[in-house]
Amino acid sequence: MRYRIVTYGCQMNVHESEKLAGELESMGMTACKDETERADVIVFNTCCIRDNAERRALGNIGVVKAEKKRDPDLIIAVCGCMTQQEGMAEVIKERYPYVDIVLGTRNIFKLPEEIEKVRAARARIKKRSDKRYRAFDTAYPEDYLAADENAPVARTSYPNAWVNIIYGCNNFCTYCIVPYVRGRELSRPMSAVVDEVRRAVDEGYGEITLLGQNVNSYGHDLTGGESFEKLLREVDRIEGKFRVRFMTSHPKDLTDGVIAAMAESDKICSNIHLPVQSGSDKVLKDMNRRYTRDRYFSLIRKLREAMPDIGITTDVMVGFPTESEEDFADTMDLVRRVRFSNAFTFIYSPRKGTPAAAMPQIPYAVKRERIGELIKLQNSVTKELSEDYVGGVFEVLAEDVSPKHEGMLCGRTESGRLATFPGEASRVGEFIKVRVTEARSASLFGVAED
Ligand code: SF4
Repeated sequence: MRYRIVTYGCQMNVHESEKLAGELESMGMTACKDETERADVIVFNTCCIRDNAERRALGNIGVVKAEKKRDPDLIIAVCGCMTQQEGMAEVIKERYPYVDIVLGTRNIFKLPEEIEKVRAARARIKKRSDKRYRAFDTAYPEDYLAADENAPVARTSYPNAWVNIIYGCNNFCTYCIVPYVRGRELSRPMSAVVDEVRRAVDEGYGEITLLGQNVNSYGHDLTGGESFEKLLREVDRIEGKFRVRFMTSHPKDLTDGVIAAMAESDKICSNIHLPVQSGSDKVLKDMNRRYTRDRYFSLIRKLREAMPDIGITTDVMVGFPTESEEDFADTMDLVRRVRFSNAFTFIYSPRKGTPAAAMPQIPYAVKRERIGELIKLQNSVTKELSEDYVGGVFEVLAEDVSPKHEGMLCGRTESGRLATFPGEASRVGEFIKVRVTEARSASLFGVAED
C-alpha cells in the first residue's frame, strides 16, 4: 500500500504532514517515490492563510477526480486549515463527492481509523449490504494533546527536526484566519517537548526548530510557571552538538528573558523571525497587533545589543484595508531602518469571517505597486548585508544537496543565511566551516574549509 501527501502552507503544515505520514506508516504503508507512482491513499494537507493557497488546494483536489475515476479503490483525504473554515466541509461534501475523508486540524490522528472505515464500507458495498462511508470530522477533541503525544511521526526534513511546542492562537489579528481554524492555545508539557528534542538529537538531527503560531506565549496555559524562556534554557541543557531555531515570535510577547536565554546559549541560534506586518501605528492598531513601531524598534535594539551578529527576518503585509500612502511610507521607513536580513512580503488577502475582510478594500493595482516598491527596497538591503559575509568563515549545517548547482551542498549559517558550497551528498547533516567567497542577493557562495 502506497500513500502520497500533498502539503500546502507553513512549517506547521510540513510537520503535520510528517505526523500524517507517521499514521499511514503505522498502517504498513510506504510513501510513493514520486507523483507518477500509483497511490492507494492521497492526502491533501491544506492551507487557507491566503486566497491563492486555498484556490490551489481546491484546484488540485479537483484534478484527482480523474485519478479516482480510473482507480475507484483510491482513498482521498483532505486535512489541514482549509477544512476547518466555516462551511468548507459542506463545500467539499457537495462539490467533491469523490473525497472520502475530511479531518480538521486537531483530528489528523484519526486518519487510520477513518481509512479502515472507508475500506470496510467498500467491502460491504461489494456485497450490496451497505452504503458508502465518508468521514467529516472538524470538531476540537478534548483529548487532543494526549492523542498528539502518542502519535507517530515520520520525519522528512533531516537534518532538521520540527518540534511543536504550542498549538493554536489566542491573538485574533484582524486579518488572520488562523485562530478560527486552529483553535485556542494549547501548550505541550515542557517535559514532553524536552524529551522529543533529546530523542531527535540522539537520532542525529543537527537542527531542532521549535514550532508554534506564537512560541512566545508558550506555557501561559500551564500551571507550573512554564514559559518560553524556561523552555529554551531546558533545551539548551540537552547534551550534544545541535542547533535550535524557533518560529514564530509575536513581538508583543517577546521578553527580555527570551533574548537573554538566546544570547547566553551556544545552541540557540542568533536568528529570529519577528513579523512586524506594518510600520504604521495606526495600521498595527487596526490589525490588533498590540505593539507600536517604537516597541518594535526597541526589541530590535535589545536583540542586536545582546547578539550583534543576529539575523533578523520578518513578515510585512501591504494593502491592509486601512493602509494609506502615509502608512505605507512608515512601513518603508521601518524596513529601511531595521535592515532585515530578509523579509517575507505579502499582499493582504481578505479572509472570510475575519474583521478586516468586512472593511472597504484597497484596489489591487495600489497593492501591487506597493509590494513592488517594498520588494525592491528589501532586495537591496539583503544584498548589502550579504556582502558583509564575504571573506568570513561561518559554521554551516549541510542541509541538502543544492537543487540548482550540481556537486554543491546548501545549508544555513547560525544567523540563518543560506550558503551554497561544493561538497559530497554524504556530508548532509554535518556542521562544516565555510569560507564565503561571493554574495548573490539572499544567497552566499563559498568553499568548505574542512
Ligand atoms: S498571532 Fe496573529 S497573525 Fe499570528 S497566527 Fe495568531 S492571529 Fe494569526
